[in-house]
Amino acid sequence: MSPQLEEIKSKLDIVEVIGQYVKLQKAGANYKALCPFHKEKTPSFIVSPSRQIFHCFGCGAGGDIFTFIMKIENLEFKEAVRLLADKAGVKLTYESPEINSQKQKIIEINEKAKEFFEKQLENNREVQGYLQKRGLKSETIKEFHLGFAPDDWRSLVNYLIKTGFKPEDIVASGLAISKLETTEISDKLQVTSYKLQDIYDRFRSRIMFPIEDASGQIVGFTGRIFQGQSPLKTIKDIEAVGKYVNTPQTLVFDKSKILYGLSKTKTYLHQLGTTLLVEGQMDFLMGWQAGIKNIVATSGTSLTPYHLTILKKYNNTLILGFDMDEAGEKAAERSIDLALAKEFNVKILQLSQGKDLADYLLEIKDSSEIKDLLNKAILIMDFYFKRAQIMGDINSLEGKKAVISYFLPKVKKLINPLDRAFWLEKISRYVDIDIHALEDELKRIAIESAKIIDENEPEYQYSSSVTLKTILEKPRYQILGERIIAFLIKDFSFKDEVKENKKYFPEGISEILEIIFRANLPEDLELKNLQKMNLREEIIDKINELALRADYELEMLEKFNVSLKEEMNKQLSDLKQEAVKIKLKKIENEIMMAEKDKNERQIQDLIKQFGQLSKELL
Ligand SMILES: [Zn+2]
Repeated sequence: MSPQLEEIKSKLDIVEVIGQYVKLQKAGANYKALCPFHKEKTPSFIVSPSRQIFHCFGCGAGGDIFTFIMKIENLEFKEAVRLLADKAGVKLTYESPEINSQKQKIIEINEKAKEFFEKQLENNREVQGYLQKRGLKSETIKEFHLGFAPDDWRSLVNYLIKTGFKPEDIVASGLAISKLETTEISDKLQVTSYKLQDIYDRFRSRIMFPIEDASGQIVGFTGRIFQGQSPLKTIKDIEAVGKYVNTPQTLVFDKSKILYGLSKTKTYLHQLGTTLLVEGQMDFLMGWQAGIKNIVATSGTSLTPYHLTILKKYNNTLILGFDMDEAGEKAAERSIDLALAKEFNVKILQLSQGKDLADYLLEIKDSSEIKDLLNKAILIMDFYFKRAQIMGDINSLEGKKAVISYFLPKVKKLINPLDRAFWLEKISRYVDIDIHALEDELKRIAIESAKIIDENEPEYQYSSSVTLKTILEKPRYQILGERIIAFLIKDFSFKDEVKENKKYFPEGISEILEIIFRANLPEDLELKNLQKMNLREEIIDKINELALRADYELEMLEKFNVSLKEEMNKQLSDLKQEAVKIKLKKIENEIMMAEKDKNERQIQDLIKQFGQLSKELL
């Protein structure tokens, strides 16, 4: 953790920070409350002053003050740090000063460019007329600072140079292209200096949409081609320059991580509990204008896991405002799969076929129509089920097969087994084919994109707080091992027993086990002492979490009148059994391999080992 984050943490007390949001009650060394992140009647939300962490044993939420503020205030990590830094009176200087000032410069350049483009639009009747025809009101154009980049190679560059910016910084902002470099501007900090004549405007003859990050700073632009009087008339010409051009990747802009409009709509996403996702600025602006406030847009890229991680912070229901004709459905498939994998309720806005949202909104007279449509958005599986019904005539076997082969892959992608069972049953009844036959068929379908790896987890997930969900997904063997260690952290009288059984513990936790063995007293494992030990951050986090877990579980034991000794003995013997079972399984596999190789000696050897080990199960 950076020294600044450390400083903020050292100046603030987690009990005070959380106490401003939640009514905390003292419970032994810790504090307890009803969890603010899920509905509950008995408190399972625990705050530890000595470890400066919180954890909810109901929903699995947990972490430090930064995690808490992010969750409760719905903030990005950086914003949460800013808020807490203010509270702590710590002055922030983020990354290295050079990168920091470079980023700042790019944002300033973007600000100036925005003003420049706005001025150009104010003076251009033709473009204004076009935007009006597309349905945008002048208030909307002002509110979102739409602008126009003239049909000229250097007008913006000249303006920015006159304002005092250097050519290399303008190139770094992505607003200008250098003739010297053919590659896109990388996010490296290479300040080569350019001469004015080496650079030219990236956006020419385009309607400009400034893009803000979640905190409202302008990080980039999308430029939509404006033909007007320009010689670009044929479709081929337009294809050559691109209908839409985005700012390339810069120090502050990455289109796979930015959602257009989020800075304005994020509070609504939280309040209204659903998000309408559309593609492109026009759909967004027309929607906003019609009074839809819980809306965001991707621009120039399809939906990424990163986008979804951001959206998940606000709510769980995603309404896709895409065109869902047959081609549209295919194009949206990956977005839908990603959203389902992140356990969103995915709904579909049912526009009439072949229309995008902007066109639809241009035609309707009353904006209540769109609100109606939003309320009627149907769950993706209902949508698929309806579509399946038109895939074939179920009075024939061929028709039944067509329906099934469309629908079963969708069922396969559902994560929740109850959902699967529900839809399997439904389709079974519809096509009138025995559910067991469909189950067999389901097994046969290759799991294509069922597992989508989230390669884009945001940077703020630095704290390795393990959620309840991951605990539930962990193998029993691992859970047992961790539970015993948790109790051991609190009570050293079991140390010798654990030491004797060391070899039965999962490998992954042996490092923590060693740390505990080296400690003389439980006090040595308190946070302040751990910090002196020069341990890796995730190890400290893990010990902290296990300790809090022990506090919580000890209380449970007391409630149910079970002694810790009793519990420990049982856990240790269970752990041993699990460990032996795993080893036996491994030997079994080795025997099979040896049999394949016809290696008699090895087989005999392994069988002997198997026999000896089996005795330990008794
Ligand atoms: Zn909770």
